[in-house]
Amino acid sequence: MGSWAAQQRQEARQLAARLSAEGVRNVALTWVDNAGITRVKTIPAERLAAAAERGIGMSPVFDVFTSDDAITTSEHLGGPDGDLRLFPDLERVTSLAAQPGWAWAPADRYDQLGLPHPACQRQFARRMTERAAAAGLELRMGFETEWVVTRAPAGHPAPGGADEPLDYPCAGPAYGMTRVVELSDYLRDVTEALSVQGIDVLQIHPEYAPGQFEVTTAPGDPVRAADDVVLVRETVRAVSVRHGLRASFAPSVVVGEVGNGCHLHTGLYRDGTSLHRSPDAAWGLAPEATAFLGGVLDALPALLAIGCPSPASYLRLQPSHWAGVYQCWGVENREAALRLITGAPDDPDGGHAEIKTFDAAANPYLAVGAVIAAGLHGIESAAQLPPPQTGDPGVLGVRERARRGIVRLPATLTEAADRLEKSAPLHEAMGEVLHGAVLAVRRAEEAHFAESEDDAIAAATRWRW
Ligand code: GLU
Ligand code: MG
Repeated sequence: MGSWAAQQRQEARQLAARLSAEGVRNVALTWVDNAGITRVKTIPAERLAAAAERGIGMSPVFDVFTSDDAITTSEHLGGPDGDLRLFPDLERVTSLAAQPGWAWAPADRYDQLGLPHPACQRQFARRMTERAAAAGLELRMGFETEWVVTRAPAGHPAPGGADEPLDYPCAGPAYGMTRVVELSDYLRDVTEALSVQGIDVLQIHPEYAPGQFEVTTAPGDPVRAADDVVLVRETVRAVSVRHGLRASFAPSVVVGEVGNGCHLHTGLYRDGTSLHRSPDAAWGLAPEATAFLGGVLDALPALLAIGCPSPASYLRLQPSHWAGVYQCWGVENREAALRLITGAPDDPDGGHAEIKTFDAAANPYLAVGAVIAAGLHGIESAAQLPPPQTGDPGVLGVRERARRGIVRLPATLTEAADRLEKSAPLHEAMGEVLHGAVLAVRRAEEAHFAESEDDAIAAATRWRW
């Protein structure tokens, strides 16, 4: 511990000197709570060495915060007592292009004795990545970020009440070049800010819903992918603010419209070789990749309580809205919850799968950790994939869906939370404290919105994530 602390201190001092030369005054240390909200403590840049050595204090009560900032309790967490230490990951300290004078670092949470906090979501993601590595497997993951942009009314930079009309700064059609022309400077600034922050942008484009856009970034290590999506979201938000705009990442911005997804792309490798590129296997899927995806598909109802964690998530999860609401997979099928992306054999963007159902209310660290846990359980239990589905299951009759064995994923948070509660593999992987805290937050969110109309849920959650 002593030499580790000394090394951290030394590294942090060098980093602080570099940041100060770049004009950085403050460093934001973020972590994401179980309701998917990115919470923060910020420090002056010159405190970075002290933070790297001893951490920054933050209460464990945030593990049972809900998305409306209310506080619930779980068997192990809640109440005013105790303290945790936030340790910045020095390897991820990034100067923020759209917040001059600021840098950002994701944080891991430890107790005051230096032991990992059992509900630390980022360490859960790392533990699952290491569990895969112990089996000789590597995951490469990446999130898509979708958001809806609106104009901030003059004099009202902060979101107004539920009745505030949404004023879109672009009127062009879905996927239309018109939107790119209308918001040309904004989209360029988003791309540039991400690039100078070391984010490898693959695409940025208009999406389907009014004011909706998407940015996709290169896949990488699962923890890195989760860090990246936090950084992407806060960067989009910051550039939006600088343009007099607001970004909503909420699952359902307007009830009935296509919502914002946060699809998770996942590829499996052994010894650097893709298990989605097996030369003689159907769709290139090596047996381990098949079992991994079979495990994920089996666990999807429980995984929804992680990937679609808000009552608002279930407003988005409508059939025929490209949100993947049926528990099935398909080759390049955008209505299947699990879309296999094959690409040409030499296509570096092919050879992985996409979980379409997840949204940006999800804690991305929980999402990657839980998906790895489900996939590894699939490998251990020799899970199989049923036949792939083509077409939109939503347009089939009930009987035809039943004949094909296609089941609807949970249509309410209650149902998803019940499935997570009963999932032995996810319970084991997350551990009692984290599993209990996530369930407590889900139950509190259900109760909070139990009597609310859909429009009220969308309005209350529109600007939360
Ligand atoms: N916006 C859609 C969703 O709710 C996804 C559109 C797409 O396929 O990228 O997930
Ligand atoms: Mg999209």
